[in-house]
Amino acid sequence: MPIVRVAINIPVDTLFDYQTVDATPDDIGLRVSVPFGKKKVVGIIIAISDTTQIDTGKLKPVCSIYRETKPLPASLLELFRFCSEYYHHPLGMVILNSLPAAMRCNKAIQIKKPASNLSFELTPAGKQIDRSVIPARNRVARRLFSAFLESAALTETQIKQISPRANQWLPEWLHRGWIAAKQAPADTSATVTGSIPILTAEQAAAVNAITAGLQQFNIWLLHGITGSGKTEVYLRSIEPVLAQGKQTLVLIPEINLTPQLEKIFRSRFAATPIVSLHSGLNDSERLSGWTQAQSGAAKIILGTRLAVFTPLPDLGLIIVDEEQDSSFKQQDGLRYSARDMAIFRARQHAVTVILGSATPSLESYYNALNGRYHTLRLQSRAVRNAGLPSIHLIDTRIHKMQDGLTEPLINAIGRCLIEKNQSLVFINRRGYAPVLLCKSCGWSAACQRCSSRLVVHLRDKQLSCHHCGHQESFPRACPHCGNQDLAPFGQGTQRVEDALTSNFPAARILRIDRDSTRRKNAWHDMLQAIHGHQIDILIGTQLLSKGHDFPNLALVGIVSADNSLYSTDFRASERLFTQLMQVAGRAGRAQIAGTVLIQTEFPNHPLYQALQHHDYDGLAQILLSERKAAGFPPYVFQALLRGEAHDLNPVLNFLHQAIKLAKPPEAVELFDPVPAQMHRLKGLERAQLLIQSTSRKQLQAFLTEWCAQIHALTNHKVRWTLDVDPLEF
Ligand code: ADP
Ligand code: ZN
Ligand code: ZN
Repeated sequence: MPIVRVAINIPVDTLFDYQTVDATPDDIGLRVSVPFGKKKVVGIIIAISDTTQIDTGKLKPVCSIYRETKPLPASLLELFRFCSEYYHHPLGMVILNSLPAAMRCNKAIQIKKPASNLSFELTPAGKQIDRSVIPARNRVARRLFSAFLESAALTETQIKQISPRANQWLPEWLHRGWIAAKQAPADTSATVTGSIPILTAEQAAAVNAITAGLQQFNIWLLHGITGSGKTEVYLRSIEPVLAQGKQTLVLIPEINLTPQLEKIFRSRFAATPIVSLHSGLNDSERLSGWTQAQSGAAKIILGTRLAVFTPLPDLGLIIVDEEQDSSFKQQDGLRYSARDMAIFRARQHAVTVILGSATPSLESYYNALNGRYHTLRLQSRAVRNAGLPSIHLIDTRIHKMQDGLTEPLINAIGRCLIEKNQSLVFINRRGYAPVLLCKSCGWSAACQRCSSRLVVHLRDKQLSCHHCGHQESFPRACPHCGNQDLAPFGQGTQRVEDALTSNFPAARILRIDRDSTRRKNAWHDMLQAIHGHQIDILIGTQLLSKGHDFPNLALVGIVSADNSLYSTDFRASERLFTQLMQVAGRAGRAQIAGTVLIQTEFPNHPLYQALQHHDYDGLAQILLSERKAAGFPPYVFQALLRGEAHDLNPVLNFLHQAIKLAKPPEAVELFDPVPAQMHRLKGLERAQLLIQSTSRKQLQAFLTEWCAQIHALTNHKVRWTLDVDPLEF
């Protein structure tokens, strides 16, 4: 009798064996219902065997195997296994958490047919009907009827948007002859709206290089300034993939960006089935998109990080847009990097992967310098005559700020209003830990062992290093210039919005942040208002910086960016630069010349200097040499063992015990446990210890062995996780 080995969604990294009568090797990858403890749970069949370690008398039988969907393909199971091993996360959890919610339930799946291509319209007889023949209590029916009166024809999707139940009236109305069905014309918006641009020489070179090597594993770093037309390079690279009937996976960082990109893709490839997969979908939408990808019917799959785990039988190309974006790394549970998994998949399927960015992550840039990735550069803007914005620094030591704004910035916004152009005030509000700064000479307290800045702990007047644990007390005076007036530095500004309102009472001001865009469609409405030029001044945070085209935007003002210069996080400069390049890139994308004004106390800082000259490479060189000197990624590989509990002591004890168990090889270094930068979160105390190595292989081998030992340390008071290639500390 065959034995099935099943992965289950529990935090234990073992497979469970069950007996069955009718399983065959073709069933590997299918969902299965099995008894587990007193319950029945869903799992995935990973292997079929005729032997087991379990006493066969004790083996329980499978309850049922779900055969209504196709099994997960072997290559996807291999990806899951790699992911499980690399991030040291149980296989069952890796697999089940990547599946659409409906597949995580222990029951058969109802797959809805994708909406048909039918549309409906009123017949001449239907147009004669008086709406009052529909009883008033049938409110949905009345609304549907009004909608028919207002538009020539309605598709099934449009009808469902009126109400999910609106389509129940169609059979009856068809029967009465009020409406008639017809095949909806294929979406021809491509030919109507977008003419296909002639590629710039740089774009053409990029497309040629990419498409010449599509049939093999290649990693391209498409390094193109903002507005250089990277999207067009993606579209042209997809064309030959579609021509071969293959699928393209496009990963993007933000769900807010999906509609805009989706529109571009749908209008270019009107006849191509495209699905988008992101967290804004409901369960059945997600399942439907996922199954269309799995069947090979969907040819373009546009999604956020989780989409990297979609089964794609005919994968031909992977694109990761804004590859540097930190949202590609999941920050809880399975802490995977979708970009890195995308590269693994491309290698697996021997296809090309394109990593696109205006400001590549230092990791990718370094890999390109090393020749591991090929680089393609787009150095000029694609739209004719659109130049890069000119960037100016406003020295806030000379121009005093009032409520976060200087006079030159206010004047520039005023001029924009007169010229009827839009301006954007960008507030960088990321909460960074305060550092100790001497305002007279610019000295800041740094750790001797780590070349990272020390964090101010006001309560006990201590400075501490969040990387190695080093502690010292506040110096009495600046060791550099003797100034006795040292102050913690690093709180964001919030009054900017009020100040703008009182300076420009007649201006139409819109604030865009996580709160204001939470409501469904809010983002869409805001974008429409911006594009329709119903807004004069935009105030925005990180959300606004990415990807969007605002054709009327002439001025970008950046306030309160300085605190990131002195962050304790070694990635802060990289992130700040990326973000400011992106925000600056919003200005002057169309016919209007753009200007960027940055308020800063440190106009000579290399980061601002690089920004002013649009010099990514210059700054990248500086940052890379700093990282090299300090022994930070990309020159080393890191992992972080995190623990949390109600009190700090058990967490620290746990971490110390873990260190005692460790037998690291010479190339692997373990640091002392330290409280996390955010040491208390949601009522839990958190601490962590950093593991670092110049050899990824040795680090991995060590982690595998060590993880097993830590599991044996089980301590119900302390929850722990391992974060491989951590981005946040
Ligand atoms: P990026 O993603 O590199 O910042 P986009 O892909 O958003 O840039 O392109 C910027 C603008 O340039 C878009 O409005 C796009 O339609 C336009 N564009 C792209 N390629 C061309 C081209 N070859 N000729 C004219 N306009 C182009
Ligand atoms: Zn000083
Ligand atoms: Zn240190």
